[in-house]
Amino acid sequence: VEALASYVMRLAAAHHTSVSALIRWGASTLLPPSHASTGQLGDLARAGGFANGMGRHAAAWVAAFEIATGRADLSQLTHLAWSEVISPIGLMRENSAHCRSCLAEMAVAGLVYEPLLWAMQGVLACPTHGERLRALCPHCGRMQPSLHLWARPGICRQCRRWLVGRTKPVSVTPGELARTRTIAALVAAPMTAANPLGLRAAVEAAIAQSATAKDFAIKADVPESSLSTWRRGTSRPSLDAVLAMCAVGPWDAASFLGGRLTRPETEAGDVKAPRRLRKRIDWVRTRSTVLERLTDDPPTTVKATAEGLSIDARWLRLHLPLETGLLKERYAAWAKDRSASRRARIRDLVTTATLAMLERDGRAPRQLVERGLPPEIQLRERIVWETWRDVRASWQADRSNVPEAA
Ligand SMILES: [Zn+2]
Ligand SMILES: [Zn+2]
Repeated sequence: VEALASYVMRLAAAHHTSVSALIRWGASTLLPPSHASTGQLGDLARAGGFANGMGRHAAAWVAAFEIATGRADLSQLTHLAWSEVISPIGLMRENSAHCRSCLAEMAVAGLVYEPLLWAMQGVLACPTHGERLRALCPHCGRMQPSLHLWARPGICRQCRRWLVGRTKPVSVTPGELARTRTIAALVAAPMTAANPLGLRAAVEAAIAQSATAKDFAIKADVPESSLSTWRRGTSRPSLDAVLAMCAVGPWDAASFLGGRLTRPETEAGDVKAPRRLRKRIDWVRTRSTVLERLTDDPPTTVKATAEGLSIDARWLRLHLPLETGLLKERYAAWAKDRSASRRARIRDLVTTATLAMLERDGRAPRQLVERGLPPEIQLRERIVWETWRDVRASWQADRSNVPEAA
């Protein structure tokens, strides 16, 4: 199952255009009214990041692109089918993550896309490869927003390089992998059956198999007060809570949302998915994961490490001040180094391009020099502009010292 934001990026690629141009010409209903006449896109990229989920942005993006493409099935690229049964809280990631092995295989197969699973907060691993999903670009070390106005699937939204680097895969625990596979099975299941009444019926049937509702709440490790709001239908459980309730049976989560208690189809030797991963944090294991991340190359940030562990970054800093301090120091040193080497690279590129043009044409105007440089290097940046100016000045000074040819 592909994520809607990824589909939009592929549509833009197929039309040789940017995501922003695609929206402006093909899905202009998404433009905020105040921006429609000016062509400004406002906060559209951010809204696009929510397009994979289940809120009003998802509905608007599905409607706009179904009209634009003539397809009627785009809501399957989102979680809209769950919107009446599952709470959006904690469902989607703030930034996207990726599995490098999947991307590498997709590139060989000739079709690169970003699955909906990668956008989900509860999915820490790739169900196929068992590797921990990565939140950062292996080249520039930065986070990946779900959508960017010129983005392409599998390409860094910041430095525009292929997201597959030479970094080592990081493994996950069997419990995390089992949980990922449970969520993957749920996402892959047809969701036509999910409905609020069905869910309430399943909750009642599940409670009936325990002595009391309180007893069931304890077994599922969910608050009893929340359980009673789900029974009454006054609030929706989170995905986390649905999985926790299903683990009591164990019951298949897709049938549970449709109102039936059925055994999950587990393969022999499968590890039972832990009921909840985030509620009680295993600090010994968390600490060893954080220490492991200290050898990541390029170094990772505390925020990304926390996101990978599904723990709040402030919480992680509070509990592991020494370890997160080391992460932070290492990243800061690397970032400083990176910006120094970037400056050196820019000076090199600009000097070579400007000199070559001067030697050939006797002049090196701004626009022409800029056109010959990689897109991320722009002359309005001070160091680029100063290098260009200095090279021209010293070339002209050199020329005026050379005696005229006879
Ligand atoms: Zn994978
Ligand atoms: Zn990058």
